[in-house]
Amino acid sequence: MDLNSLVCLSLGLQEIIIERHQFSEQHQKLVIHAKLPLSEARCKKCFFDFLDLHQWHEKTIRIPTIGISNKVFLHLKYPRGHCFFCQKVMAADLYFIHPEFKGLSCSFVEVAGRMMEETTCAAAARLTCCNRKLLWKVDQWRMKYMKKYYSLPTNLDCSRMSADEVHFITQKNKKRENPFSPRRHIKYITNLVCSTKSKVVANASGREYGSLKNCLNLLSDEQKDSIKFFSLDMHADFFKAVRELCPNAEIAVDRYHLVESMNKVFNELRKDEFRAAKKRNDEFQVGMLEPGRRFILMQRNPDLSIEEHNLLGKLKMLNVNINAGMLIVDYFHRVLDQTGLSKFRERLVKWYGLVRDSKLKSFRKFALQVRKYRKNIEAYIKSNLTTAISEGLNNKIKVLKRMGYNYTNEKSFKNKILQRCGFLNSRFIDTNFMFWHVPYPQI
Ligand SMILES: [Zn+2]
Repeated sequence: MDLNSLVCLSLGLQEIIIERHQFSEQHQKLVIHAKLPLSEARCKKCFFDFLDLHQWHEKTIRIPTIGISNKVFLHLKYPRGHCFFCQKVMAADLYFIHPEFKGLSCSFVEVAGRMMEETTCAAAARLTCCNRKLLWKVDQWRMKYMKKYYSLPTNLDCSRMSADEVHFITQKNKKRENPFSPRRHIKYITNLVCSTKSKVVANASGREYGSLKNCLNLLSDEQKDSIKFFSLDMHADFFKAVRELCPNAEIAVDRYHLVESMNKVFNELRKDEFRAAKKRNDEFQVGMLEPGRRFILMQRNPDLSIEEHNLLGKLKMLNVNINAGMLIVDYFHRVLDQTGLSKFRERLVKWYGLVRDSKLKSFRKFALQVRKYRKNIEAYIKSNLTTAISEGLNNKIKVLKRMGYNYTNEKSFKNKILQRCGFLNSRFIDTNFMFWHVPYPQI
């Protein structure tokens, strides 16, 4: 292989002849002047050879970086000739130019696209010295194009799945018809997660029965049947969808959501006691129960100083309800820590007793909910589905949202989630051919 071919190969160009180059040290800009010889040129339409030359054309195209030079342009001279087959004057076929973005080569689009799989469009724009709006369009186009090739891996282990919603956007309700209509619309996106691979498999807008159904319908029947455990939060619509579509799945309630709703109940109790203490003018209790201190009250917090421990002890002595609440929370964690079913049931009965004795209304309500979902909590204990995966993914999605300074386009956000946390990227879809040529017509 000679040097010319090597350069063409490494830049994803078709066979052209490089004539000279200009390098500006100040701007790190490299312009490569090249020519597509008439003998190599083919008709754009029928790919036949040209009979003779009509005229030479010139074009400047953005190509990927070479070594230290970030801005690399290809200044290409190419022929228009008489086509033997078409009986017309036709331009030469330049298949390395991107069919959607005429000023960029396919290789540049692919390199920048792979960069944008990992980072934001703005960061990729800085790294490639390109316009970020253009790169945003490139990213959108690429995700849309790759969706055409998108399919779940056939050997995907679907035995453990989970579903969860993430917050997408809160919009002001501009058309409020009456004073009782909501001030804001909150939009969510439902993600279907494969827990064994910790990847988002599918997503849909909303958090209703239909949203999860849409997600599940993307799985094949065999995959749906192979689901053994399905981890959900306590959301009736999701339960309905899973029961209907996945006959073999046992629904497990997510520990994270369970603990979250319990913490909410405890926080309500703290608020009530805070108000009561304020009325009594009890300075110590007001100070201990104020909103900023609520994390001290979570006993699982291991970083408490000795002083904080002492204050907490004093509070527990003074306030019976808070003491009981903290005991219930702590014991519930211990119930969930059990790995065997019989031990879990034994401890749960004790926990019910604890709640009953405390006579705290809010916790009693919570206990009723626990009783209702007992079978599902048992499924969690059996499957030992950890919440780390869904929590981690949710965190990743939050980071993604922040990095993009929030998304407003729902479709783009959904695709982006699939790209970052799922299978819509070059690691799972073979896009190597896109370095050279993007088949037309596309999308
Ligand atoms: Zn032709």
